[in-house]
Amino acid sequence: GWRSRAAFKLIEIDDKAKLLKSGQRIVDLGAAPGGWLQVAAKRIGLEQGRGKIVGIDLLDIDPVPGVAFMKGDFTTDDAPDRLKEMLGGEADVVLSDMAANATGHRKTDQIKIIYLAELAIQFAREVLAPGGHFLCKVLQGGTEGDLLSDLKRDFAVVKHIKPQASRADSKELYVLAMGFRGREAVAGP
Ligand code: SAM
Repeated sequence: GWRSRAAFKLIEIDDKAKLLKSGQRIVDLGAAPGGWLQVAAKRIGLEQGRGKIVGIDLLDIDPVPGVAFMKGDFTTDDAPDRLKEMLGGEADVVLSDMAANATGHRKTDQIKIIYLAELAIQFAREVLAPGGHFLCKVLQGGTEGDLLSDLKRDFAVVKHIKPQASRADSKELYVLAMGFRGREAVAGP
């Protein structure tokens, strides 16, 4: 069985958007307890020796066969480079389901999740191969302004997805950016 309810969200998003393909190289940010790792591993054929998956979380996980997992804080300076080393090349897909524990204070939670999303986008820009995809948890109203315009500049298609598997009352939303234009096309430092 799947380790998390989150697994059903990725299944639903992927059934619709078709981002996971056999043999892909994937990074999963905020991977615990490992539902997305299980779904991704199955869909790329990891156990048959196809593709590669690297994951990180603050919390430890039970191993997922074939997945390279690192326990750590993605927001620390060296985490992105360590993940790149573990991957050993470009990624086809960067997933982020990272969420800090909710404080219950809407504004504070919003700021925290935007910060995590910004760092995830920055990482995706550095590691994705041209044509690659980026899927990231945000909160409703959280991808306005810079975040959305940055994604639209760097990816061919950008959309928001609210999976059925997300609780109806949840403010959770995912942003899916497909078709990375490549680093040459990306402006800025
Ligand atoms: N997609 C996962 C699955 O299918 O099992 C569920 C992910 S859960 C909703 C969010 C995760 O983000 C938590 O396990 C949390 O520890 C992790 N997280 C939050 N902040 C993080 C950080 N700074 N670095 C790494 N992981 C983080």
